[in-house]
Amino acid sequence: MLRAYAITIAALFLFDAQAGPRVPAVGTADLGAQLLQDATVKNAIDRLKRGEPQVLDEQIRVCEIPAPPFKEARRADAVRRSFETLGLKDVRIDRAGNVLGERAGSGPTPHLVFSAHLDTVFGEEVPIRMTRSGAVLKGPGIGDDCRGLAVLLAVARTFEENNIVTPGPITFVATVGEEGLGDLRGVKELFNGTLKGRVDRFVSVDGAGLGITHVAVGSLRYRVTFKGTGGHSYGDFGIANPVHALGRAIARMGDTRVPDVPKTTFNVGRIGGGTSVNAIASEAWMEVDLRSSDRAALHALDAALQRALDGALAAENARWGNRGRLTLSKQLVGDRPAGRVSADAPIVQAAQSVTRALGLPVSLDEGSTDANLAMSLGIPAITVDGGGSASGTHSVDEAFDSTNSWQGTVRAFLLALALTR
Ligand SMILES: [Zn+2]
Repeated sequence: MLRAYAITIAALFLFDAQAGPRVPAVGTADLGAQLLQDATVKNAIDRLKRGEPQVLDEQIRVCEIPAPPFKEARRADAVRRSFETLGLKDVRIDRAGNVLGERAGSGPTPHLVFSAHLDTVFGEEVPIRMTRSGAVLKGPGIGDDCRGLAVLLAVARTFEENNIVTPGPITFVATVGEEGLGDLRGVKELFNGTLKGRVDRFVSVDGAGLGITHVAVGSLRYRVTFKGTGGHSYGDFGIANPVHALGRAIARMGDTRVPDVPKTTFNVGRIGGGTSVNAIASEAWMEVDLRSSDRAALHALDAALQRALDGALAAENARWGNRGRLTLSKQLVGDRPAGRVSADAPIVQAAQSVTRALGLPVSLDEGSTDANLAMSLGIPAITVDGGGSASGTHSVDEAFDSTNSWQGTVRAFLLALALTR
């Protein structure tokens, strides 16, 4: 029944679609307003607005399939089936586990990649159950990024159902590994392998709200371990102590000066080690997170961390005349490149233009998302919020308030349309 309906609508708009709306180029301020004047586009938006309940159902359906870090396969398979049902072409799952589906344009360029991420921050032990009370949907991952996935599917469906012909092709992608230690492994494979050299524009739909992220906060994360022989606190006193070395390192790190602008931050997030109050530890460790929206500032902060660590090691060993000499290991567990796309860049202008055209507030943000990688490679990229509002992101009490969430769905569709020309 749905299929028959789709064909009818497609036939209705075929003529308009073939002609294609006459609109200014990407980056022009009134692009959004011009797109809205096209009858096909207007009708598509009306349907999309009315269809928001279906988008919310899909958001819950996708989110009820667990997608712990490094274990996104089940959710990926569900998205793959949705892509196929929607009529996308060459639907496939790449080496990293990203799901891809293509939609041809009338020409080969510009090639837009439109995406959302599959993974959540929640481990397998976290029960995944969604509830709904009025406009509020609740459950782990419901906003971040089940919202993005639902919007992604809605945008793909809108192009297909309305038979909209775009100048350039769109590849819809559900990525793996966006969160935490996933370390952007999905987009790393996408840009360095699966679609290498073939992406002209990249959009990630991530989370709730209406923001436009055009500054990518980069981060480096380390697990640092000091090791020694260890021993009895009294009997073996006089040897270097890994816990003391860790303390020296944290103190040196804590004194590091960082610029306010560009915002640059450091955090020792977790520490551990030792066996007993009356034992000299044989091991002490910490996890450190460094961030900046500026590549050079992040690099400088990284150098400061290395100096703090090497200095702490040398000082602790020297203090005890190299008795029970310590070793130090620094394991890089996260590397998300910084980047930015100018607020004046065509892709950011297009996002602002379609947002304004819908009468919505424009908010330019910075963040750490799948778009980081594209930006670091010099590919025009942004991340947009998927509408609605969220609370408790990354917690088991995560909630998504769907009041006016259609705005995010419609904005995403208009943006995709704008970026194919
Ligand atoms: Zn996210």
